[in-house]
Formats: sequence, C-alpha cells, structure tokens
Amino acid sequence: MALQNLREISKNIEDAEFKNLLADLSSELADLKLEAASLKERIAELQEENALLKKTIAPSDEKPSGRKWGCYLFEGDTTLYCPACWDSKRQKSSTTRVNTRFRHCPVCNAPIGAG
Ligand SMILES: [Zn+2]
Repeated sequence: MALQNLREISKNIEDAEFKNLLADLSSELADLKLEAASLKERIAELQEENALLKKTIAPSDEKPSGRKWGCYLFEGDTTLYCPACWDSKRQKSSTTRVNTRFRHCPVCNAPIGAG
C-alpha cells in the first residue's frame, strides 16, 4: 500500500514538514474511507427503496378478488393474505389463525380482526 511505503521512507527523513504532511494525508485517507463506506450504505438503502417503489408503483394485474375474515383473497387461491402488507408493499403475506375471531400476520405483526 502506498501510504505504508511512504511511512517506511519517512523513517529515514528528518523533516518535520514531511511528517506533518504524511499525517495529514493519513487522516484525510481515513476520512475518505469512512465517507466511502457511508456512501455505499446510502446506495444500498436507495437501491432497496427503488426496488420497493417499482414494485408498488408498477401496474399490476393482480388485485385482491375479495375479502374474508379481514384478509385479502386472490383469484384461484384460498390462502388469506394480510391486507396491510399488500397495500403497502404489494407483498403477499399469508396470515395465521389466532382464534375464531382473529388472524395474525407474521411479516408485519398486524392482528387482523375477523369483524
Ligand atoms: Zn402483514
């Protein structure tokens, strides 16, 4: 690595200015690395958001064909899906039965009332 080489060379140089410069460069490099890391994170976030938006906005032929026990039903499918997950993320989360009146979505943790 270039910085390491510079440090090695600097051992033989008794020039305070050079050493200060090297220290400055090291800290600038460290700052840049941090910045690059946070930019990478930001990009990943935006990619995720973008994918979600595409999914939500893209016109989909698929629509719930009806409702049962507060859940969405789809054509040719008897599974009861979470309406909150579908409305917000176009995601089909199958719900689980809690009791005779309530179902539960394991994805968003929403209790879904049968009433
Ligand atoms: Zn849900």
